[in-house]
Formats: sequence, structure tokens, C-alpha cells
Amino acid sequence: MAKPWGLQAEWDMTKPWNPHSWQRFPAEQQPAYPEPTALEGVLARLRQLPPLVVPEEVDRLRGLLAEAAAGRRFLLQGGDCAEQFKDCAPEAIAGKLRVLLQMSVALTHGGRRPVVRVGRIAGQFAKPRSKATELIRGRELPSYRGDLVNALEATPEARRPDPSRMLEAYFHAAATLNHLRALTAGGFADLHHPERWELPGGTGEVPEYRRTLDQVKESLDFLEALGGVQRDALERIDFFTSHEALLLPFEEALTRWVVEAGAYYNLGAHTLWVGERTRQLDGAHIEYLRGLRNPLGVKVGPSATPEHLVALLDRLDPGREAGRITLISRFGARRIREALPPLLKAVQAAGRTVLWSCDPMHGNGVESAQGLKTRDFDAILAELRQAFEIHRELGSHLGGVHFELTGEAVTECTGGTQRLSEVDLAKAYETGCDPRLNGVQSLEMAFLIAEMMRG
Ligand code: PEP
Ligand code: MN
Repeated sequence: MAKPWGLQAEWDMTKPWNPHSWQRFPAEQQPAYPEPTALEGVLARLRQLPPLVVPEEVDRLRGLLAEAAAGRRFLLQGGDCAEQFKDCAPEAIAGKLRVLLQMSVALTHGGRRPVVRVGRIAGQFAKPRSKATELIRGRELPSYRGDLVNALEATPEARRPDPSRMLEAYFHAAATLNHLRALTAGGFADLHHPERWELPGGTGEVPEYRRTLDQVKESLDFLEALGGVQRDALERIDFFTSHEALLLPFEEALTRWVVEAGAYYNLGAHTLWVGERTRQLDGAHIEYLRGLRNPLGVKVGPSATPEHLVALLDRLDPGREAGRITLISRFGARRIREALPPLLKAVQAAGRTVLWSCDPMHGNGVESAQGLKTRDFDAILAELRQAFEIHRELGSHLGGVHFELTGEAVTECTGGTQRLSEVDLAKAYETGCDPRLNGVQSLEMAFLIAEMMRG
């Protein structure tokens, strides 16, 4: 839709921010909705619906991220590339929670730091695309932009942007979050019963996991015998939600004024990130995000320059608030060595404390001989290894990781101890967008990361 999005404007510090001030700026990656009245109706309804999260939780996450930036905690962020509405099902939700919990046990135990768990979940429904159309079985169709915008099915009708999907997305996010909250409140995460988190292929596949659980159990028994831990602290856990802030009308509708804080929060998720394709300094996405109280993530890839990055930090975090910004580098194993140091040094020279995380997925995509998008376990690991090294060399530290993963036994990424090859990919290739690590690969990766955390 041409108006009012996409109007060009000079960025002007004197113009106040408000939840729709982004509309004065060019907005990348927005669909053209054919019927403005239908769109307006949906947005009006969304504005009336209750928030999915509360400001206290958002503030708590900001505090935890500040501790991660200071090196006292470690951020584990992960989930689907794109959630699909059909994934709003008990097995898929519990599977993702389970694998993130398993990974955080491996990281906390091996890395000796408490883990902040953030899912790419309950709202990760929109995808940026490099091209407006894609060729499917000889047909040029509008690109799939995520269930929030259109449908994956390869027909022109399915690919038409439909604003009513925003309401569907809200209700699917609400149902997903409700299930996550019920599971975590109901003892699913209780460390006394980690046997409830069996691996999809059986724990035998990652023997280190079984050993770690036994050790954790032993330590708990010991601490409890000393009276040093509160049982309920182990039974309940924090679990936060995140997604890419991409479809701005939707995000605007979930933005709420919080009287007690005297600030606007996006209460559709605890934290949002801006993607590699939409972080233009004078673009609508940065304008929208700068006015929120939520902690923010920024993807940092090959197109970032030191000047751009420092200017972005000035715009998104003028108050230099602890926990406000997580920079998520995503260069690929072959480029990180050259690309990360200048950016890291520029952030240090600007006197900025941020939380640095590494997304080892988005710079390591390759196409298999059979034409499937995949990523190799060793390339992912190689990028992470270098990220840890580079941060250490420059007197910084890597404080988090960002993955595309699922608890299920999919075959989308090659490698790992299951030795998945390109030929195996077709067996269970289920992603609606980018390839994800499966449950076993994710857990293996967590043990390797824990080793790197120790140095
Ligand atoms: C993503 O996280 O799915 C994504 C599209 O990442 P990036 O913006 O880093 O390419
Ligand atoms: Mn992705």
C-alpha cells in the first residue's frame, strides 16, 4: 500500500516519536494490502485486544540482559525461522520449550553461567524476503512473507496479502504463549524431573546429556541437603518471547502506553529485533523501535559499517541503558574473522556496553545439490568458535547465541553426530522458510558452546 507508508521524510530529532511516527519514513518489506478499509478494521480490533505480555516481564528481561552484557548470564535465543499457524500444536510448542530447556541445562552446567531463555516464538510470523516474487514449479508467484501476511501454498490467491491474518496471528500467539506459560507453571521445567524432557530420538543419542542430568541431580540433592536452594525456584523458570519487528502496522497495534512507566511498550512480545534488511538509519523500522521501552535486538551482518552501527546505537539507545541493546552478529564462518573486529572496535571506541550475541545460522546458508536450503553443523560451529575467539582477543565477550531450531526430528541442517547428509534432507524437511537444527543437533551444539564458554 502506497499511503501513508513509504512517504519519504528527513529524520528530524525535533519531531516527537509516537507509535505511528514510523509512517513518515520509508518502510521496507511491507505488503501492499488491496483493501485499506479491511486493514483498518483489523488494526482497530487488534488495538482493543489485551496485551500478550506485561510490562513487568519486559522490565525483568531488560535487567537479565544487562547482566548478560556484564558477563554474569548467557542469552539463549532460538526457535523457528518462521512459525506457521499449523505449528500452534502441543507437540511442537512443548518440543521447542523442551529443547531450549535442555540446552540451557547444558550451558548452565558446562558454561557455569545462568541462562536467559528467549524463544523465537508466539509471534515469529513475518519474514523479510530478498525478492518480491519467487519461482515455484515454473510459476512466478508473490513471495511467501510469513503466515502473518500470506499463505505458503503456491497459488496466486494464497499469496495475496490478507489483513485478517494479523488477527489470526494474534490468537495463535496467544494460544502458544498460554501453553508455554501453563507448561512452565505446571512443573514441566522442574529440574527434579528432567526425565520429562526426553529427546525425540531418545537420550541415548547425546550421551553427555544423560551424564549431565545425573550430575545436576546430584548437585541439587546436595544443595537441598544443605538447605541452600528453595525448591520452588527450581520448579519455575523464566521464559521470554521474541520476534522480528517487521510488519509495522501489526506492531503498532500491539504498542501500548503504560501509565506507571510513563512509556510505550510493545506488549506483543518481551523483546523484538530488527532484521538485516530493515535497519536503515532513516527507515520506518528504526523509527518505530526507538520509542519503545522493550529491550531490542539488532541483526548485524555484512552490510553494516562501523559508522552505521554507532549511529544506530545513538538512535536506538541515546540513554545508554543497560540491557537495552543486543547486537546479533550474523556473518557466516567465512566472513566473521574479517567483518566482526572493526564493528566490535567501533562499539568499544564509542564507549558502549551492549550484549553481543551470535546468530551462526543466517550467514551459513547453502543450497544442496537437490535444491534445498540447508546449513552445515560444522559451519555453524566454526562461526561460533570464531565469535568466542574474536571477542576474547579484543577484550570483549560473547554473551549469547541465536539459533533457528526445533525440538522435532527434522532433517533440514546437515552434519552433527547423526551425520545427516544432503541426501537425508528430503526425509523430514518441514520448515516454511530457513533450515533449523533438529533437537539432537541443538543439544549437541549446546554442549560444544558450553565448552567454548569455559574458554
Ligand atoms: C531471521 O532471523 O530469520 C532473519 C531473516 O535474519 P536476518 O535479518 O539476520 O537475515
Ligand atoms: Mn531465518
